[in-house]
Amino acid sequence: MGVIVQKFGGSSVADADKIFNVAGRIIDAYKKTDQVVVVVSAQGDTTDDLIEKAKEINTNPSKREMDVLLSTGEQITISLLSMALEKLGYPVISLTGWQVGIQTDSNNMAARIKKIDTQRINSELDKKKIVIVAGFQGINRYNDITTLGRGGSDTTAVALAAALHADICEIYTDVDGVYTADPRIIKNALKLKDVSYDEMLELASLGANVLHNRSVELAKKYNVDLEVKSSFEKIEGTKVKEVGLVEKMLVRGVARDNNVARISVVGIADKPGKAYKLFALLAKGQINVDVILQSIGRENTKDISFTVPADHLDDTLKILNDNLEVLEATEIKYSDKVSKVSIVGAGMASNPGVAAKMFEALYEAQININMISTSEIKVSVLIDEENAERAVKAIHAKFFDE
Ligand code: ASP
Ligand code: MG
Repeated sequence: MGVIVQKFGGSSVADADKIFNVAGRIIDAYKKTDQVVVVVSAQGDTTDDLIEKAKEINTNPSKREMDVLLSTGEQITISLLSMALEKLGYPVISLTGWQVGIQTDSNNMAARIKKIDTQRINSELDKKKIVIVAGFQGINRYNDITTLGRGGSDTTAVALAAALHADICEIYTDVDGVYTADPRIIKNALKLKDVSYDEMLELASLGANVLHNRSVELAKKYNVDLEVKSSFEKIEGTKVKEVGLVEKMLVRGVARDNNVARISVVGIADKPGKAYKLFALLAKGQINVDVILQSIGRENTKDISFTVPADHLDDTLKILNDNLEVLEATEIKYSDKVSKVSIVGAGMASNPGVAAKMFEALYEAQININMISTSEIKVSVLIDEENAERAVKAIHAKFFDE
């Protein structure tokens, strides 16, 4: 057997007992193959706590310094987990992102991995050591610490699995797999045996909160076999793999994303080039735009509405307000009290009734839709955040209970 990459999330390493539990899972793998690489997140709420600490000092710190701070969370975990394995009598070494040679671009707090130097890890694996790597962090070409964006440890794990040509990348977490909906909201949600990369990508970016979406993109690109499983129970999880290899379900899951804001640019001059101008400005500002809706022009003006991640709202508003004149717009309206609820399934491409069924469920629950967007494998609606949980329940019941 070749290399196994295991990743343990923050809730799985939250305290000493949990660290020993994780050590046990690592030892199980080490007994099968002595080539084990482990990626860990910061313990429990450490990253959130660090962000709070920063705010007490400076509400607008530079992203460079935030990364110096945030990367410490994972460094704590690698050392503690290594100490646990030492105590249990196993050969182990912890490595930070820079020690491994995880090279990223310079986009602090949202850096992308460019290259991984596998030399150090391979030489430790040759010595039969268990290698514990700090997730979520890397180093840019100026030797400055970077982080990969919240939830980025998954991406570290997949990138390492790709670079080391691992047999499998196991993502251990506090849920035991990917469900048809968030099992904390939907009690009878079903665990999926498998899911395609594309479906998982939609589910991840739509707020299913199981995997970092960049990690799924990478897994797809490098064909890394992923499995999402429980850190605590020894049961089968959910496998993420090639489309052809999964059972095609009409609707695979219902996802909710509360991290969304809706923005409307009102009264834009109704002439060519305005949408281009608007979205070029946002692209330049590194704003990820999602659903876009343009109203039909009236009296020589039109409105363009779109959604962005809620944490991009302030940056977006600043860009728009600075450019009101260029855009020839009259007003910017926005709300971050919105949610995006989506259904995802590779089988829906050739099945027009699926969207209607979803809208029927929303109608029966008397939930109003603000925006709609569709792709080959998903239908998303933007609704008021206060209705989101009810919407997920109604839609899930429609597709899975009837
Ligand atoms: N500790 C980081 C976070 O909370 C990275 C991770 O957990 O994946 O976002
Ligand atoms: Mg996570």
